[in-house]
Amino acid sequence: EKRDGDQPEFLQAVYEVLDTLQPVIAKHPEYEKNGVLERLVEPERVVKFRVAWVDDAGKVQVNRGYRIQFNSAIGPYKGGLRFHPTVNEGVIKFLGFEQILKNSLTTLPMGGGKGGSDFDPKGKSDAEVMRFCQAFMTELCRHIGQFTDVPAGDINVGAREIGYLFGQYKRIRDEYSGVLTGKGLEFGGSLARTEATGYGVCYYTAEALRVLKNDSFEGKTVVISGSGNVAIYAAQKAEELGAKVVTVSDSNGYVYDPNGIDVTVVKQIKEVERGRIKEYAERVPSAEYHEGCSGVWTVPCDIALPCATQNEINEESAKALVAGGCKVVVEGANMPSTPEAIEVYKSNGLLYGPAKAANAGGVAVSGLEMSQNSYRLSWTFDEVDAKLKSIMESIVAESLKAAKEYGEEGDLMAGANIAGFVKVANAMVAQGVL
Ligand code: NDP
Repeated sequence: EKRDGDQPEFLQAVYEVLDTLQPVIAKHPEYEKNGVLERLVEPERVVKFRVAWVDDAGKVQVNRGYRIQFNSAIGPYKGGLRFHPTVNEGVIKFLGFEQILKNSLTTLPMGGGKGGSDFDPKGKSDAEVMRFCQAFMTELCRHIGQFTDVPAGDINVGAREIGYLFGQYKRIRDEYSGVLTGKGLEFGGSLARTEATGYGVCYYTAEALRVLKNDSFEGKTVVISGSGNVAIYAAQKAEELGAKVVTVSDSNGYVYDPNGIDVTVVKQIKEVERGRIKEYAERVPSAEYHEGCSGVWTVPCDIALPCATQNEINEESAKALVAGGCKVVVEGANMPSTPEAIEVYKSNGLLYGPAKAANAGGVAVSGLEMSQNSYRLSWTFDEVDAKLKSIMESIVAESLKAAKEYGEEGDLMAGANIAGFVKVANAMVAQGVL
């Protein structure tokens, strides 16, 4: 806290994890002796750099770039890049820290990392986004590589940005390798990567509902926040599994459609036109638009899937969800619930699926993209989707097993933290003090 007092999101992520690891540390003195916790919360490397680029008016713009290589105990650093004006070192550190345990949970050999920039792509032309991506990669390329660190997308970094970043890496390094994931299908991308995080959230939710409540998505009303990559594919899969999704949102407001959100309209607005979610209500007569994104949590539902950003559900919003009949909260976004919100879920007996387990499907399929790149082949959509589903189901099983072993039966949050941690901790002990 003394060292990182100016990084509230990072401290929040660390406290939550350390709290649930107490019984593990008590049982394994070797972790304490080896300083595993002290090393786990200190990134192996923090890279911070200037990104200078020229806008369409010919003016030089300067942004800040980051890549935090947090932990490589079980594999090369792996984690997304976020472009958003709120990005700072503390935000990237919280995301990188979460990524260590998330990647471990996928069962694939990936360490934890994260990066990004305070660049805001909103209102920028394609050419500006391209020049920014090229400038960003001109520096980043010396720190990453297929065997050292493999970035992917995150908020505002999708197929377009990954394409520009990949092109620049290839040009500078004169090397065609799987150095980024989330690539276009024509140049090494994996089928089902676009869908992976959102689908994974639903596979995880369905499995947790089945095991813990003998229930399913069938006939449920679902509230989703966000209208980006995770939200769109979570909505699509929830509807396929028999639920009715009644909301989507962006940072300006939310739409409520009592007939069920038409995902094809959302895709057209967000993926094709890069527009605002307000336009949904202008095209679909049954829908209403409401200004202000936090109102989405007052919409009555059975299941809430927050898929926008960190700390989007505070105590008041969590209470509103409970008052609206919500029984299940599963996180698509990273750390969308404040600690007070999580307390509200727990004290009201909600089924709570934490982000690092529930949204691990994206990085899991990124791991599968790395495997396909190494083999120089591509699997079919159904093959990748089946692997994703089985990984998400195994995350539920492993979380529940770990929770039971350490006296926290049924607690998916404690279980995810413990199951993710033990593998990394054992690898760190085995590799000596580094
Ligand atoms: P996108 O950029 O595709 O979409 C982000 C969505 O969240 C947009 O609707 C955006 O609205 C909204 N949003 C962003 N910031 C805020 C904010 N401060 N307040 C309210 N709404 C906001 O990103 P993704 O869908 O990829 O990511 C969403 C979340 O999921 C993030 O937490 C990310 O870390 C997490 N995640 C993503 C993975 C992936 O594979 N993409 C994998 C695992 C986790 P607006 O357009 O107004 O900004």
